[in-house]
Amino acid sequence: MSKTKYVLYYCVSCNKETKMGVVGTMEGSENKVWYRCTRCHHSTMIDISKRPSDSVIKFIKEDCTSYSPERSYTVGELIYHNTWDDMGKVTAKEKTSSGGRAILVSFEKLGSRRLIENLAAE
Ligand SMILES: [Zn+2]
Repeated sequence: MSKTKYVLYYCVSCNKETKMGVVGTMEGSENKVWYRCTRCHHSTMIDISKRPSDSVIKFIKEDCTSYSPERSYTVGELIYHNTWDDMGKVTAKEKTSSGGRAILVSFEKLGSRRLIENLAAE
């Protein structure tokens, strides 16, 4: 699970949107994440709690797991929904009223959606 996550973010040094890898989070404040530009290696801190709703950080499709109801996901995992052609981040996990399991996903275009996970494959 230590796979490096990448985001597209505006690099002040390159003066353009570049691919950035996560360096680490700030001690005691997990909303502040250090990213390093893969082009110029300039590090920048992004406060993900202040992320505007029109999404400065864009997910990169290759870093997303394709969504499938049979799979189970972890909070923070990036997923790609084939039918909706949208990428999102798992923000929470919960139980459904029928005793199943669901994930809450914050999608780039669609916003927050609840999806079934860990569906028993019959
Ligand atoms: Zn850069």
